[in-house]
Amino acid sequence: MGDSKKEDMKEPSKLEEQECPICHKKTLTLMEEEREVPYFGKCFIFSMTCSNCRYHKADIESSEKKEPAKYTLDIDSEDDMKIRVIRSSEGTINLVRIAKIEGGSGSNGFITNVEGIINRIRHQVEALRDSEEDPAVKKKAKNLLKKLTKISWGQEKAKLVIEDPTGNSAIISDKAVKSRI
Ligand SMILES: [Zn+2]
Repeated sequence: MGDSKKEDMKEPSKLEEQECPICHKKTLTLMEEEREVPYFGKCFIFSMTCSNCRYHKADIESSEKKEPAKYTLDIDSEDDMKIRVIRSSEGTINLVRIAKIEGGSGSNGFITNVEGIINRIRHQVEALRDSEEDPAVKKKAKNLLKKLTKISWGQEKAKLVIEDPTGNSAIISDKAVKSRI
């Protein structure tokens, strides 16, 4: 009793009531978590979330230095939705000929799966469909949503490419082809 020393690195560490870089109130929570991702290795997941202004930033970094890499995955079945995807803030996600999510300093890093990527794109397209006045753009968005649903059911093929100059992004599957950028 009384020994508060913590050796277990796998427990997420949390720092609350920090100053938010945006609204400057002491309402920011910092989280850091270490996670072992099979076939990728040990990762650090960081996030900051402000309960006042809703500022949120998250990123992921491998514990070992990685080479710049590009992963390409042919999606052709519903099972592919479960394939794990690691995206660092520097990773650019391209669902070829459908949508692109650029990486960069304003982006967030996360661990998800193919379905999670498709859902993110779906939310963006839905927002466009709901905010757009132009009926032609609205129609295009609706068609795109149908296409995304078919892809997630394995009824339509698609290609997912993730490129990351830091090498901190990956598609974890035997089906994914890894190459150099
Ligand atoms: Zn804030």
